[in-house]
Amino acid sequence: MTSQTEIRVASAALRRASIGVDVAGVRVGGSAPIVVQSMTNTDTADVAGTTKQVAELWRAGSELVRLTVNSAEAAAAVPRIRERLDMMGIGVPLIGDFHYNGHTLLTQEPAAATALAKYRINPGNVGFGKKKDLQFSTIVELAIRHGKPVRIGANWGSLDQELLARMMDENHERAQPWDAPRVMREALIRSALDSAARAEELGLAREHIILSCKVSGVQELIAVYRDLAQRSDYALHLGLTEAGIGSKGIVASAAALAVLLQEGIGDTIRISLTPEPDESRTREVIVAQELLQTMGLRAFTPMVTACPGCGRTTSTFFQELAKTVQDHVRARMPEWRIQYDGVENLTLAVMGCVVNGPGESKHANIGISLPGSGEAPSAPVFIDGVKSRTLRGDSIAQDFVALVETYVAEKYRTKAG
Ligand code: SF4
Repeated sequence: MTSQTEIRVASAALRRASIGVDVAGVRVGGSAPIVVQSMTNTDTADVAGTTKQVAELWRAGSELVRLTVNSAEAAAAVPRIRERLDMMGIGVPLIGDFHYNGHTLLTQEPAAATALAKYRINPGNVGFGKKKDLQFSTIVELAIRHGKPVRIGANWGSLDQELLARMMDENHERAQPWDAPRVMREALIRSALDSAARAEELGLAREHIILSCKVSGVQELIAVYRDLAQRSDYALHLGLTEAGIGSKGIVASAAALAVLLQEGIGDTIRISLTPEPDESRTREVIVAQELLQTMGLRAFTPMVTACPGCGRTTSTFFQELAKTVQDHVRARMPEWRIQYDGVENLTLAVMGCVVNGPGESKHANIGISLPGSGEAPSAPVFIDGVKSRTLRGDSIAQDFVALVETYVAEKYRTKAG
Protein backbone atom coordinates (compact mmCIF):
# COMPACT_ATOMS: atom_id res chain seq x y z
CA MET A 1 0.00 0.00 0.00
CA THR A 2 1.32 3.46 -0.87
CA SER A 3 1.61 5.58 2.27
CA GLN A 4 0.58 9.22 2.59
CA THR A 5 4.24 10.06 3.21
CA GLU A 6 5.31 8.40 -0.04
CA ILE A 7 2.59 10.26 -1.93
CA ARG A 8 3.68 13.51 -0.29
CA VAL A 9 7.30 12.98 -1.29
CA ALA A 10 6.25 12.10 -4.86
CA SER A 11 4.03 15.19 -5.05
CA ALA A 12 6.82 17.40 -3.74
CA ALA A 13 9.13 16.05 -6.46
CA LEU A 14 6.59 17.12 -9.07
CA ARG A 15 6.60 20.74 -7.88
CA ARG A 16 7.52 23.33 -10.46
CA ALA A 17 10.95 24.79 -9.75
CA SER A 18 10.60 28.36 -8.55
CA ILE A 19 12.84 30.94 -6.99
CA GLY A 20 12.56 30.82 -3.18
CA VAL A 21 11.57 34.05 -1.41
CA ASP A 22 12.21 34.72 2.27
CA VAL A 23 9.27 36.54 3.87
CA ALA A 24 10.60 37.37 7.34
CA GLY A 25 11.67 33.79 7.97
CA VAL A 26 8.84 32.07 6.07
CA ARG A 27 10.13 30.55 2.81
CA VAL A 28 7.84 30.79 -0.19
CA GLY A 29 8.81 28.83 -3.29
CA GLY A 30 12.00 26.96 -4.04
CA SER A 31 11.84 23.65 -2.19
CA ALA A 32 9.73 25.02 0.67
CA PRO A 33 6.35 23.48 1.53
CA ILE A 34 3.33 25.32 0.14
CA VAL A 35 2.54 28.20 2.51
CA VAL A 36 -0.96 28.97 3.80
CA GLN A 37 -1.91 32.62 4.01
CA SER A 38 -5.00 34.65 4.80
CA MET A 39 -6.21 38.23 4.95
CA THR A 40 -7.96 40.22 7.66
CA ASN A 41 -11.30 41.92 7.09
CA THR A 42 -11.09 44.36 10.00
CA ASP A 43 -10.40 48.07 9.65
CA THR A 44 -6.60 48.08 9.90
CA ALA A 45 -6.77 51.43 11.76
CA ASP A 46 -8.54 49.49 14.55
CA VAL A 47 -5.38 48.25 16.24
CA ALA A 48 -7.08 46.08 18.89
CA GLY A 49 -9.56 44.49 16.48
CA THR A 50 -6.97 43.79 13.79
CA THR A 51 -4.44 42.41 16.26
CA LYS A 52 -7.12 40.07 17.61
CA GLN A 53 -8.04 38.81 14.16
CA VAL A 54 -4.42 38.34 13.08
CA ALA A 55 -3.87 36.31 16.26
CA GLU A 56 -6.94 34.18 15.49
CA LEU A 57 -5.77 33.56 11.92
CA TRP A 58 -2.30 32.67 13.15
CA ARG A 59 -3.69 30.29 15.80
CA ALA A 60 -5.76 28.61 13.09
CA GLY A 61 -2.51 28.04 11.17
CA SER A 62 -2.09 31.00 8.83
CA GLU A 63 1.63 31.33 8.14
CA LEU A 64 1.38 34.80 6.58
CA VAL A 65 -1.36 37.38 7.19
CA ARG A 66 -2.19 40.25 4.84
CA LEU A 67 -3.78 43.52 5.93
CA THR A 68 -5.21 46.25 3.80
CA VAL A 69 -3.23 49.48 4.13
CA ASN A 70 -5.46 52.06 2.55
CA SER A 71 -5.13 55.24 4.61
CA ALA A 72 -2.71 57.22 6.77
CA GLU A 73 -4.51 55.85 9.85
CA ALA A 74 -4.13 52.26 8.65
CA ALA A 75 -0.43 52.80 7.88
CA ALA A 76 0.12 54.34 11.33
CA ALA A 77 -1.61 51.35 12.93
CA VAL A 78 0.66 48.75 11.28
CA PRO A 79 3.71 49.15 13.58
CA ARG A 80 1.42 49.17 16.62
CA ILE A 81 -0.23 45.95 15.49
CA ARG A 82 3.23 44.43 14.92
CA GLU A 83 4.32 45.50 18.40
CA ARG A 84 1.23 44.02 20.07
CA LEU A 85 1.63 40.73 18.22
CA ASP A 86 5.29 40.54 19.21
CA MET A 87 4.32 41.12 22.85
CA MET A 88 1.89 38.19 22.53
CA GLY A 89 4.69 36.00 21.16
CA ILE A 90 3.09 35.92 17.69
CA GLY A 91 5.73 36.43 15.05
CA VAL A 92 3.54 35.83 11.99
CA PRO A 93 4.78 38.02 9.10
CA LEU A 94 2.38 40.81 8.08
CA ILE A 95 1.87 41.74 4.44
CA GLY A 96 0.65 45.19 3.44
CA ASP A 97 -1.94 45.30 0.66
CA PHE A 98 -1.64 48.58 -1.27
CA HIS A 99 -3.82 50.12 -3.95
CA TYR A 100 -3.58 53.62 -5.48
CA ASN A 101 -1.67 55.33 -2.64
CA GLY A 102 0.96 52.78 -1.54
CA HIS A 103 3.81 55.06 -2.67
CA THR A 104 2.55 57.86 -0.39
CA LEU A 105 1.73 55.71 2.63
CA LEU A 106 5.04 53.83 2.58
CA THR A 107 6.96 57.09 2.17
CA GLN A 108 5.10 58.91 4.93
CA GLU A 109 5.04 55.99 7.41
CA PRO A 110 8.53 54.47 7.40
CA ALA A 111 7.64 52.54 10.58
CA ALA A 112 4.94 50.73 8.60
CA ALA A 113 7.37 50.10 5.75
CA THR A 114 9.70 48.49 8.30
CA ALA A 115 7.06 46.54 10.22
CA LEU A 116 5.60 44.90 7.12
CA ALA A 117 7.33 41.74 5.90
CA LYS A 118 6.17 42.10 2.30
CA TYR A 119 4.33 44.60 0.13
CA ARG A 120 1.57 43.56 -2.25
CA ILE A 121 0.95 45.86 -5.16
CA ASN A 122 -1.51 45.58 -8.02
CA PRO A 123 -0.04 46.76 -11.33
CA GLY A 124 -3.57 47.59 -12.51
CA ASN A 125 -4.12 50.28 -9.92
CA VAL A 126 -0.73 51.34 -8.61
CA GLY A 127 -1.34 54.64 -10.38
CA PHE A 128 -2.81 56.02 -13.57
CA GLY A 129 -1.55 57.83 -16.65
CA LYS A 130 1.82 59.48 -16.34
CA LYS A 131 1.96 58.90 -12.57
CA LYS A 132 1.81 55.13 -12.87
CA ASP A 133 5.49 54.49 -13.62
CA LEU A 134 6.69 56.92 -10.98
CA GLN A 135 4.41 55.48 -8.28
CA PHE A 136 5.37 51.92 -9.18
CA SER A 137 9.08 52.73 -9.04
CA THR A 138 8.65 54.59 -5.72
CA ILE A 139 7.16 51.48 -4.09
CA VAL A 140 9.80 49.19 -5.58
CA GLU A 141 12.61 51.52 -4.44
CA LEU A 142 11.12 51.60 -0.94
CA ALA A 143 11.00 47.80 -0.93
CA ILE A 144 14.66 47.69 -1.96
CA ARG A 145 15.61 50.23 0.73
CA HIS A 146 13.76 48.31 3.44
CA GLY A 147 14.88 44.89 2.16
CA LYS A 148 11.30 43.65 1.61
CA PRO A 149 9.91 41.27 -1.00
CA VAL A 150 7.03 42.40 -3.19
CA ARG A 151 4.08 40.47 -4.55
CA ILE A 152 3.06 41.81 -7.92
CA GLY A 153 -0.56 40.74 -7.90
CA ALA A 154 -2.52 41.32 -11.08
CA ASN A 155 -6.27 40.85 -10.85
CA TRP A 156 -8.92 40.30 -13.50
CA GLY A 157 -11.17 42.88 -11.83
CA SER A 158 -8.57 45.65 -11.92
CA LEU A 159 -6.62 44.84 -15.06
CA ASP A 160 -4.32 47.56 -16.41
CA GLN A 161 -6.74 49.17 -18.89
CA GLU A 162 -4.01 50.89 -20.96
CA LEU A 163 -2.22 47.59 -21.43
CA LEU A 164 -5.47 45.82 -22.31
CA ALA A 165 -6.36 48.50 -24.89
CA ARG A 166 -2.88 48.20 -26.43
CA MET A 167 -3.15 44.43 -26.60
CA MET A 168 -6.62 44.61 -28.15
CA ASP A 169 -5.12 46.84 -30.88
CA GLU A 170 -2.25 44.40 -31.39
CA ASN A 171 -4.77 41.59 -31.61
CA HIS A 172 -6.61 43.29 -34.48
CA GLU A 173 -3.35 43.19 -36.45
CA ARG A 174 -3.09 39.41 -36.12
CA ALA A 175 -3.82 37.33 -39.20
CA GLN A 176 -6.06 35.22 -36.96
CA PRO A 177 -7.17 37.36 -34.02
CA TRP A 178 -7.54 35.67 -30.63
CA ASP A 179 -10.91 35.65 -28.90
CA ALA A 180 -11.47 38.28 -26.21
CA PRO A 181 -10.99 35.98 -23.17
CA ARG A 182 -7.59 34.89 -24.52
CA VAL A 183 -6.53 38.52 -24.98
CA MET A 184 -7.67 39.26 -21.42
CA ARG A 185 -5.68 36.31 -20.04
CA GLU A 186 -2.61 37.39 -21.96
CA ALA A 187 -3.02 40.97 -20.71
CA LEU A 188 -3.20 39.74 -17.12
CA ILE A 189 -0.04 37.66 -17.50
CA ARG A 190 1.81 40.40 -19.36
CA SER A 191 0.81 42.90 -16.67
CA ALA A 192 2.46 40.71 -14.01
CA LEU A 193 5.52 39.70 -16.05
CA ASP A 194 6.22 43.18 -17.46
CA SER A 195 5.88 44.69 -13.98
CA ALA A 196 8.26 42.08 -12.56
CA ALA A 197 10.78 42.85 -15.33
CA ARG A 198 10.48 46.57 -14.55
CA ALA A 199 10.97 45.91 -10.83
CA GLU A 200 14.13 43.96 -11.62
CA GLU A 201 15.39 46.83 -13.82
CA LEU A 202 14.91 49.10 -10.82
CA GLY A 203 17.08 46.76 -8.77
CA LEU A 204 14.63 44.47 -6.96
CA ALA A 205 16.19 41.00 -6.72
CA ARG A 206 14.37 38.08 -8.34
CA GLU A 207 14.48 36.46 -4.88
CA HIS A 208 12.26 39.31 -3.69
CA ILE A 209 9.47 38.91 -6.22
CA ILE A 210 6.29 36.81 -6.00
CA LEU A 211 3.66 36.89 -8.74
CA SER A 212 -0.05 36.28 -8.87
CA CYS A 213 -2.67 36.60 -11.62
CA LYS A 214 -6.04 36.10 -10.02
CA VAL A 215 -9.36 35.58 -11.76
CA SER A 216 -12.70 34.42 -10.41
CA GLY A 217 -13.47 31.60 -12.87
CA VAL A 218 -12.13 28.09 -12.29
CA GLN A 219 -11.19 27.25 -15.88
CA GLU A 220 -9.74 30.73 -16.49
CA LEU A 221 -7.57 30.47 -13.38
CA ILE A 222 -6.22 27.09 -14.45
CA ALA A 223 -5.45 28.40 -17.95
CA VAL A 224 -3.77 31.58 -16.66
CA TYR A 225 -1.55 29.85 -14.11
CA ARG A 226 -0.50 27.04 -16.45
CA ASP A 227 0.67 29.69 -18.88
CA LEU A 228 2.27 31.86 -16.20
CA ALA A 229 4.12 28.89 -14.70
CA GLN A 230 5.59 27.98 -18.09
CA ARG A 231 6.76 31.50 -18.76
CA SER A 232 8.52 32.33 -15.50
CA ASP A 233 10.23 30.85 -12.48
CA TYR A 234 9.05 33.44 -9.97
CA ALA A 235 7.39 32.08 -6.85
CA LEU A 236 3.62 32.04 -7.39
CA HIS A 237 0.85 33.06 -5.04
CA LEU A 238 -2.23 31.04 -5.97
CA GLY A 239 -5.86 31.79 -5.28
CA LEU A 240 -9.25 32.09 -6.92
CA THR A 241 -10.27 35.70 -6.35
CA GLU A 242 -13.80 36.46 -5.15
CA ALA A 243 -14.49 32.74 -4.78
CA GLY A 244 -17.83 33.37 -3.09
CA ILE A 245 -19.67 32.36 0.05
CA GLY A 246 -20.15 28.98 1.74
CA SER A 247 -19.85 25.72 -0.14
CA LYS A 248 -19.69 27.50 -3.52
CA GLY A 249 -16.56 29.39 -2.51
CA ILE A 250 -14.95 26.29 -1.07
CA VAL A 251 -15.76 24.05 -4.02
CA ALA A 252 -14.70 26.60 -6.63
CA SER A 253 -11.41 27.32 -4.85
CA ALA A 254 -10.65 23.65 -4.27
CA ALA A 255 -11.53 22.69 -7.85
CA ALA A 256 -9.20 25.30 -9.34
CA LEU A 257 -6.34 25.04 -6.88
CA ALA A 258 -6.31 21.24 -6.75
CA VAL A 259 -5.73 20.97 -10.50
CA LEU A 260 -2.85 23.45 -10.37
CA LEU A 261 -1.29 22.10 -7.17
CA GLN A 262 -1.40 18.60 -8.63
CA GLU A 263 0.61 19.93 -11.57
CA GLY A 264 3.15 21.40 -9.15
CA ILE A 265 2.00 25.00 -9.66
CA GLY A 266 1.66 27.32 -6.65
CA ASP A 267 4.00 28.16 -3.77
CA THR A 268 1.57 29.87 -1.41
CA ILE A 269 -2.23 29.75 -1.37
CA ARG A 270 -5.11 31.79 -0.10
CA ILE A 271 -8.77 30.77 -0.14
CA SER A 272 -10.74 33.99 -0.74
CA LEU A 273 -13.96 33.02 1.02
CA THR A 274 -16.72 35.44 1.82
CA PRO A 275 -17.56 34.60 5.45
CA GLU A 276 -21.18 33.70 6.13
CA PRO A 277 -22.84 35.98 8.70
CA ASP A 278 -21.19 35.36 12.10
CA GLU A 279 -18.73 32.88 10.56
CA SER A 280 -15.14 33.13 11.73
CA ARG A 281 -12.58 34.50 9.31
CA THR A 282 -10.44 31.49 10.22
CA ARG A 283 -12.58 29.29 7.92
CA GLU A 284 -10.41 30.29 4.97
CA VAL A 285 -7.31 29.04 6.78
CA ILE A 286 -8.93 25.72 7.68
CA VAL A 287 -10.10 25.20 4.10
CA ALA A 288 -6.59 25.95 2.76
CA GLN A 289 -5.04 23.50 5.21
CA GLU A 290 -7.62 20.82 4.47
CA LEU A 291 -7.08 21.23 0.75
CA LEU A 292 -3.32 20.70 1.10
CA GLN A 293 -3.74 17.90 3.61
CA THR A 294 -6.40 15.92 1.77
CA MET A 295 -4.18 16.13 -1.34
CA GLY A 296 -1.32 14.71 0.69
CA LEU A 297 0.85 17.79 0.09
CA ARG A 298 1.20 18.84 3.73
CA ALA A 299 -0.12 17.73 7.12
CA PHE A 300 -1.45 20.23 9.65
CA THR A 301 -4.06 18.61 11.88
CA PRO A 302 -5.22 15.04 12.48
CA MET A 303 -8.00 14.24 10.03
CA VAL A 304 -11.19 12.37 10.83
CA THR A 305 -12.56 9.96 8.22
CA ALA A 306 -16.31 9.61 8.67
CA CYS A 307 -18.95 7.87 6.60
CA PRO A 308 -21.89 9.92 5.31
CA GLY A 309 -24.46 7.77 7.12
CA CYS A 310 -27.44 6.06 5.51
CA GLY A 311 -30.57 4.14 6.37
CA ARG A 312 -28.53 1.60 8.31
CA THR A 313 -27.77 4.11 11.06
CA THR A 314 -30.31 4.42 13.84
CA SER A 315 -29.37 7.93 14.93
CA THR A 316 -27.22 10.95 14.19
CA PHE A 317 -24.92 9.97 17.04
CA PHE A 318 -22.01 9.07 14.76
CA GLN A 319 -22.27 12.46 13.02
CA GLU A 320 -22.11 14.18 16.39
CA LEU A 321 -19.20 11.97 17.43
CA ALA A 322 -17.29 12.73 14.20
CA LYS A 323 -17.77 16.45 14.84
CA THR A 324 -16.82 16.15 18.51
CA VAL A 325 -13.62 14.32 17.60
CA GLN A 326 -12.66 16.71 14.74
CA ASP A 327 -13.37 19.76 16.95
CA HIS A 328 -11.38 18.21 19.79
CA VAL A 329 -8.25 17.55 17.74
CA ARG A 330 -8.43 20.99 16.11
CA ALA A 331 -8.77 22.66 19.52
CA ARG A 332 -5.93 20.59 20.97
CA MET A 333 -3.60 21.05 17.98
CA PRO A 334 -1.98 24.37 19.02
CA GLU A 335 -0.76 22.64 22.21
CA TRP A 336 -0.04 19.26 20.62
CA ARG A 337 1.97 20.93 17.85
CA ILE A 338 4.33 22.38 20.43
CA GLN A 339 4.48 19.21 22.48
CA TYR A 340 4.49 16.27 20.07
CA ASP A 341 6.46 15.51 16.93
CA GLY A 342 4.41 14.25 13.95
CA VAL A 343 0.99 14.38 15.66
CA GLU A 344 -0.45 16.14 12.60
CA ASN A 345 -0.19 12.79 10.77
CA LEU A 346 -2.59 11.06 13.18
CA THR A 347 -5.61 9.57 11.38
CA LEU A 348 -8.99 8.88 12.96
CA ALA A 349 -12.14 7.16 11.72
CA VAL A 350 -15.71 7.44 12.99
CA MET A 351 -18.02 5.07 11.15
CA GLY A 352 -21.77 4.49 11.30
CA CYS A 353 -22.16 0.71 11.05
CA VAL A 354 -20.55 -2.67 10.53
CA VAL A 355 -20.64 -2.50 6.68
CA ASN A 356 -17.53 -0.34 6.26
CA GLY A 357 -16.88 0.51 9.92
CA PRO A 358 -14.31 -2.11 10.95
CA GLY A 359 -12.48 -1.97 7.59
CA GLU A 360 -12.15 1.81 7.53
CA SER A 361 -11.34 1.90 11.26
CA LYS A 362 -8.45 -0.51 10.70
CA HIS A 363 -6.89 1.88 8.16
CA ALA A 364 -6.83 4.69 10.75
CA ASN A 365 -4.57 5.01 13.77
CA ILE A 366 -7.71 4.94 15.90
CA GLY A 367 -11.12 4.08 14.55
CA ILE A 368 -14.52 3.38 15.99
CA SER A 369 -17.40 1.53 14.37
CA LEU A 370 -20.73 2.52 15.86
CA PRO A 371 -23.70 0.17 15.94
CA GLY A 372 -26.10 0.42 13.00
CA SER A 373 -29.74 -0.64 13.11
CA GLY A 374 -30.11 -4.28 14.10
CA GLU A 375 -26.57 -4.45 15.54
CA ALA A 376 -25.71 -5.04 19.19
CA PRO A 377 -25.36 -1.66 21.01
CA SER A 378 -21.59 -1.76 21.20
CA ALA A 379 -18.79 0.09 19.41
CA PRO A 380 -15.54 -1.73 18.68
CA VAL A 381 -12.42 0.46 18.69
CA PHE A 382 -9.42 -0.36 16.49
CA ILE A 383 -5.97 0.93 17.30
CA ASP A 384 -3.31 0.65 14.61
CA GLY A 385 -5.40 -1.92 12.79
CA VAL A 386 -6.09 -4.18 15.76
CA LYS A 387 -9.33 -4.41 17.72
CA SER A 388 -8.47 -2.95 21.08
CA ARG A 389 -11.71 -2.74 23.06
CA THR A 390 -15.45 -2.19 22.84
CA LEU A 391 -17.16 0.96 24.08
CA ARG A 392 -20.75 0.92 25.37
CA GLY A 393 -23.23 3.16 27.11
CA ASP A 394 -23.74 6.91 27.26
CA SER A 395 -20.10 7.92 27.57
CA ILE A 396 -18.82 6.59 24.21
CA ALA A 397 -17.84 10.09 22.99
CA GLN A 398 -15.88 10.98 26.13
CA ASP A 399 -14.28 7.53 26.26
CA PHE A 400 -13.20 7.71 22.62
CA VAL A 401 -11.74 11.21 23.03
CA ALA A 402 -9.86 9.97 26.13
CA LEU A 403 -8.42 7.11 24.03
CA VAL A 404 -7.25 9.62 21.43
CA GLU A 405 -5.51 11.66 24.14
CA THR A 406 -3.77 8.56 25.54
CA TYR A 407 -2.71 7.43 22.06
CA VAL A 408 -1.18 10.83 21.25
CA ALA A 409 0.72 10.96 24.54
CA GLU A 410 2.10 7.43 24.08
CA LYS A 411 2.76 7.36 20.33
CA TYR A 412 4.29 10.74 19.51
CA ARG A 413 7.72 11.73 20.69
CA THR A 414 7.70 14.65 23.07
CA LYS A 415 9.60 17.55 21.47
CA ALA A 416 11.19 18.55 24.75
CA GLY A 417 12.44 15.00 25.28
S1 SF4 B 1 -20.61 2.62 7.04
FE1 SF4 B 1 -22.71 1.87 7.40
S2 SF4 B 1 -23.82 3.66 8.13
FE2 SF4 B 1 -21.97 4.43 7.17
S3 SF4 B 1 -22.63 4.87 5.08
FE3 SF4 B 1 -21.72 2.81 5.07
S4 SF4 B 1 -23.47 1.42 5.34
FE4 SF4 B 1 -24.19 3.48 5.93
